[in-house]
Formats: sequence, C-alpha cells, structure tokens
Amino acid sequence: MKIELPKLPFEMNALEPNISAKTLEFHYGKHHQAYMTNLNNLIQGTKFENASLETMIKEAEGPIFNNAAQVLNHTFYFSGLQQANTSEPGKQVAEAIKSSFGSQKEFKDAFIKAASTLFGSGWVWLIKDSKGTLEIIQESNAGNPIRKGLKPILTCDVWEHAYYLDYQNRRPDYLNAYWDLIDWDVVEKRF
Ligand code: MN
Repeated sequence: MKIELPKLPFEMNALEPNISAKTLEFHYGKHHQAYMTNLNNLIQGTKFENASLETMIKEAEGPIFNNAAQVLNHTFYFSGLQQANTSEPGKQVAEAIKSSFGSQKEFKDAFIKAASTLFGSGWVWLIKDSKGTLEIIQESNAGNPIRKGLKPILTCDVWEHAYYLDYQNRRPDYLNAYWDLIDWDVVEKRF
C-alpha cells in the first residue's frame, strides 16, 4: 500500500506573511514529500509494507521510524494551521489550558519557551493525558509522543527548514508568527 502525501488544507500563500509561500513550497513540496518517498521505498518487502503510520511510529526503529514519524508529524503540523488570527481556543481546550497552565498567556509563554529552548531539530507538542490535563513536551528529531502512548493535539516544527527562509536564525520570531496561525478548531476536535 503506497502512502500518499495529503493535500494541504490551504493555498501556498494562505499563511503569508507569517509563513511564506516559498517556505511552504520547500517545506511541504520538498521536505514532506521526501520523507514520504523515502518511507515508501524503505517499507517495501518489510513487515511494515501495509502498516499504518501510527504502527510504524510505535514499533519501527531507525530509518523507517524516522521517515514515518516525519510524514505524520508534518501532516499533523500543516493540518493545524490556517490564515493568521482567524480562530481562538474552543470551549474544551480553553478550559483545559486554564486548569493546566493558569491562563492562555501563561500557556503561550510556556509553549514558546519550550520551542525556543529545544536544542537542535525537533518538535514541541501539546498532549492531553487520560485525565484531560494538558502538557507541553519537547521531542528531538522525528520524535512523536504517540510512541510513548500519549495523545497529541498540537505541534510546532522547530527544524530550521520550517523557518530559515523567512526568519533565518530568529526562531522566536517564527514561533510568535506560528502562534497566530494555529487553527484552534482543529485542536478542539483533536482534544
Ligand atoms: Mn519540517
């Protein structure tokens, strides 16, 4: 079963100026596509040939894990974005943010701090535990919290390829721009 790249839920220029069409052309069109192509080649003739991405993330090691996780991580990231400042946290997520972090402002500060201080390449995740409490988790490289049995509801890609064309070394500027692109309706559905 060949895994295919899902279409972006918006036009290439929909996230401008926060994230440029040029960045998306590389990030989605080249990087995300390359992980997908690599994965389809790697799984041929292995026990993962017909497995779901989730199964590969939970059970595979090395290149199959890395590429499967990067495929799913990017789909999760892109599908949680939309035009800037067009939504706000839904009822359930807003309540969970308040009880887990104190306020939306404290949550934003904590998420951006976690994303700023993640050393090297990786992902920052917001996960929901079995009691409905939210937690921010840093993962290096291709790390995805479903490997640890956790339920992600939001992620931010902090690999340099996510922001270098627009922001060069200014990761905090990218993070603040990213924040305004979060599609909170999607986060609410995932909660
Ligand atoms: Mn990326």
